[in-house]
Amino acid sequence: MEEKAYQIILEAGERGLLQSDLWRKLGVNSREGSRIAMKLEKRGVVRRMKELYKGRWTYRLFANAKEKVEVKWDTLGGCPCFTCTQISRCGAGQPISPNHCWKLTEYINKSVNEAP
Ligand code: SF4
Repeated sequence: MEEKAYQIILEAGERGLLQSDLWRKLGVNSREGSRIAMKLEKRGVVRRMKELYKGRWTYRLFANAKEKVEVKWDTLGGCPCFTCTQISRCGAGQPISPNHCWKLTEYINKSVNEAP
């Protein structure tokens, strides 16, 4: 459930999403939703910003930027995105997304397994 919550928050991008929207998407009650959000915050993968929404205080959730990794062009050979016919329609929060792409996942897994 936490992983699913994190994916939803990640896909919300820079605008983030309200805690209540996360609960709705997860199909959990506010107590369970708050517990998940606090757990993700404690793990350091999500930050919560207090926000006044429709006269009530709530939190907006944002995925924390991942650790910066230096990417070298010569390590990107074979990345399916460079030749993908769906690239113009692909993006976080879209029906076609890198978060759910088996071709990209396969490429990354292969690259990790072949890393020195
Ligand atoms: S993530 Fe997948 S669908 Fe998106 S551009 Fe790359 S290969 Fe294509």
